[in-house]
Amino acid sequence: MSDPEYDVLVVGAGNAAFSAAHSAREQVDRVCVLEKAPAAELGGNSYYTLGSMRATYGGLDDLRPLLDELDEREAATFDLPPYTVDDFAADMLRVTRGRTDPTLMRILVEDSFPTLQWLHRHGVKFKLQSDNQVFEVNGRKKFWGGGTIATVGGGIGLIEQHLTEAKTTGIDVRVEHQMTGFLVGPAGAVEGVVCRTPAGEVVIRAKAVVLASGGFEADARLRAVHLGPGWDTAKVRGSRYNTGEGLMSALGIGAQAYGNWSGAHAVAWDINAGPYGNRVLTNKLQRHSYPFGITVNIEGRRFVDEGEHFRNYTYAKIGSAILRQTGGLAYQIFDQRGVGLLRTDYGHEGASQVVADTIGELAQKLGLDPERLERTVAEYNAAIGEGTFDPTTLDGLRTNNVEPPKSNWAQPIAEPPFVGFPVGCAITFTYGGIRIDEDARVLDQGDRPIPGLHAAGEVVGGLFYENYPGGSGLMSGAVFGRRAGATAARYARSRA
Ligand SMILES: Cc1cc2nc3c(=O)[nH]c(=O)nc-3n(C[C@H](O)[C@H](O)[C@H](O)COP(=O)(O)OP(=O)(O)OC[C@H]3O[C@@H](n4cnc5c(N)ncnc54)[C@H](O)[C@@H]3O)c2cc1C
Repeated sequence: MSDPEYDVLVVGAGNAAFSAAHSAREQVDRVCVLEKAPAAELGGNSYYTLGSMRATYGGLDDLRPLLDELDEREAATFDLPPYTVDDFAADMLRVTRGRTDPTLMRILVEDSFPTLQWLHRHGVKFKLQSDNQVFEVNGRKKFWGGGTIATVGGGIGLIEQHLTEAKTTGIDVRVEHQMTGFLVGPAGAVEGVVCRTPAGEVVIRAKAVVLASGGFEADARLRAVHLGPGWDTAKVRGSRYNTGEGLMSALGIGAQAYGNWSGAHAVAWDINAGPYGNRVLTNKLQRHSYPFGITVNIEGRRFVDEGEHFRNYTYAKIGSAILRQTGGLAYQIFDQRGVGLLRTDYGHEGASQVVADTIGELAQKLGLDPERLERTVAEYNAAIGEGTFDPTTLDGLRTNNVEPPKSNWAQPIAEPPFVGFPVGCAITFTYGGIRIDEDARVLDQGDRPIPGLHAAGEVVGGLFYENYPGGSGLMSGAVFGRRAGATAARYARSRA
């Protein structure tokens, strides 16, 4: 056989893929990233993100060396409590109800901070999320919910920074290469991939392959099959190209299916958004400030505990709750107290919203039954207990004797004008995937590594079940991408 064209071939061009490519390039010379999308749509879901990356730290002094943007005068007003390995692990265990794979979870948590440092050495730039992860209390800007760090320029910046590094280190990036299958040698080792390209089918050989081609969230049929009825109608929050061929090809050569195949990350999303992600607005179509108002369905009834926890720990499951309502529709309702706390995303040009001086008028403008909505608001207001509102803690300001309860931040909806935002469900990514070991080697049904095949990012299952702590997707792609690239490069060198 002729010498393979590449040492390490990475399928996909999102954050997990580039992390794998940089890591492989530290050990071997010939690394290639293969991307299905055209150049103008490169970057996968990672492009659409806010760039929020959940990582552990002891305080601002730990983070300062990584921050490319920090206003020291503003920093003097920050309250930035530590976010420890135990905190991150506890969050993963709580939101997944203890089902997260303990080995993968430990690696994610313990490698998170070193991986930030490693990404920074590879040209990724970081800042504090001092806009949407901070509330001002008594003149101090307090961070909450573990979502402290983001990339400069969000997901767009992250992909630009990855591309610059790839160019600098001589990593090939080939677009319009849709991987459709693996080349498997006589001994069962993966030796390359087959791709569909505008010029026809091509075969690319490599000593090792890293699969980082995302989940199957952009394929309506696969959503209906695995997530259940109604999911084919969900909008897609990000890339239209994550349609699962890489994942299905891996299963086809014996990879083990793993994790929460009927589960997905899905959010509240502007009702008038298009069917797929918008490359200009990216994440701004999300509607994450529901803890500071109430959310009702088309019948005008509340259906979810809007204040169950910080939104970083509930927003990924609220999309599913909305999808289960009549027509997959919901309406977020705020008074002026809530409006003052809305994320900046709500203010983008063209955001779907309705304003009215009374709840009855708001209902009419939203197409809801005015009497019913007035009753819902009155019952909710009357059920609010004693307490002090504090958006930076789980303040326990809750309702009593109303179903469902609102467990925190329950302030009356009473100060006009009232504002309503119609929302639907948009899927972010699917939780089910293939199984990897601690070195990111893909395992077969008997837990044996498939030689030559490694994986990272959303194509991997086992970390997230039913829910997800915000900022963990990019971090898991980086942590396991780094491991996958290193293991793949070692394997490639062993085959030299
Ligand atoms: C709007 C939005 C906001 C988000 N915000 C955040 C955030 O702030 N923080 C966070 O942690 N997470 C966030 N997420 C989730 C985050 O995007 C994912 O967890 C993460 O990007 C997954 O990285 P990945 O590399 O596995 O997948 P992707 O970035 O989706 O990359 C997969 C790549 O594989 C390519 N591909 C697919 N099939 C093939 C094929 N057959 N052949 C070749 N290439 C293929 C795709 O085109 C794509 O480029 C957000 C997601 C969205 C949509």
